[in-house]
Amino acid sequence: MDSKTIMNLIERSCPACLETVWRHVQDIETYTIQKCSGCGLIRVSVVTREDLDGFYEFIYFNNESSELIGYKKYSTNYKADRLNYLRFHKDLIDLSPGRRLFDVGAAHGLLVKVMQEVGWSAKGIDPSLYATNLAQKEYGVDIQCGTLEEYDFCGQTFDVVTLIGVFEHLVNPRLSLEKIKSILNPGGLLLIVTLNAGRFLHVYKYKPPEHLYYFNLPQLKQMLSRHGFDIKISKPYFRIYKLSEFLYRVNHLLFPWLVKPIDYLFKYFPFLDVCCRLPTNEMFVVAKKR
Ligand SMILES: [Zn+2]
Repeated sequence: MDSKTIMNLIERSCPACLETVWRHVQDIETYTIQKCSGCGLIRVSVVTREDLDGFYEFIYFNNESSELIGYKKYSTNYKADRLNYLRFHKDLIDLSPGRRLFDVGAAHGLLVKVMQEVGWSAKGIDPSLYATNLAQKEYGVDIQCGTLEEYDFCGQTFDVVTLIGVFEHLVNPRLSLEKIKSILNPGGLLLIVTLNAGRFLHVYKYKPPEHLYYFNLPQLKQMLSRHGFDIKISKPYFRIYKLSEFLYRVNHLLFPWLVKPIDYLFKYFPFLDVCCRLPTNEMFVVAKKR
């Protein structure tokens, strides 16, 4: 047994169906991708604290390399994401028992800021010291640095918990869901936007140690149900993108030879870079605490 196995943060059983037998799928650098022999959930087999320490810092949010890890420049999405978050407000407002919101993986705090602007009491948490400093300085919002599982809420509770592009990063989704349940008010809502590995077109890559679990909708529903949540909304996620960002992501996955020409196109014709609502490889799920 090597030291990596001893410190593995990934739990043995499947968070969706509790099966403990996993089949080998492929190796990526030092990581192994596995598939649950019960429900088919895909995961990374071993992740250590050392793999993740310092991972979500400046370079993650400003990654100009061609690896497609993290974001090329996170702040370029602000304008489009503001519109996305206003849509979340519309989706949540009639279902939620109140207006207290907690955002997990809050990054620069833009979701928290936007929700505050439309009348919510909102705060959040993120493991990145870089991102939480920026959130506090740029927006003056309450984003704490840390992990959901270790954070002491001192009895605070919320009507909505959001995980936007976060569920696939969780080291222990079962533990995370239990913590979320403990801070949600009765009838409170959990909003998840996450990669859907069950879409017909396989337009994503395995990205350890960034993405650790690759759920499809039935697996996610099964897990939420087991943890005491009823599904209220589940649908493919259509996201408002700047056209340049959307094409950058699609081309990286499907047509890498187009990345540079398209970059030049928007550099010399910036007026073409409009915001559009476009399909993604993600799912949008709202679940209610029983
Ligand atoms: Zn399973």
